[in-house]
Amino acid sequence: MKPIPFENTWPYEQQMGDIYLEPCPFCGEGRILTNMSQEALGRAKEGIKTRIQLQCCRETMVVLEADDDYFWTQHTLR
Ligand SMILES: [Zn+2]
Repeated sequence: MKPIPFENTWPYEQQMGDIYLEPCPFCGEGRILTNMSQEALGRAKEGIKTRIQLQCCRETMVVLEADDDYFWTQHTLR
C-alpha cells in the first residue's frame, strides 16, 4: 500500500469515550461529535477501513488508518 500523505490526515479528540472532530474538515463546523465507536477506532488503528458519517454536512469520511491523534483518510483535507 502507498503511504498516506500528510494532507490526508485530520486530528481527532476523545472525551468520555466519544470521538470528536474540531472542526469538521468538510464544512468547518466546530466540534463535531462523530458516530464512531471505540470498537471502530480500534479497528481503524489496525488499518481496517472505517467510514464516519458526519451529521453536520452529511459528508462521509473514509478513514484508512488511525493513530492516537490523527485519522489517515482517503481525502485530501489540507
Ligand atoms: Zn461537516
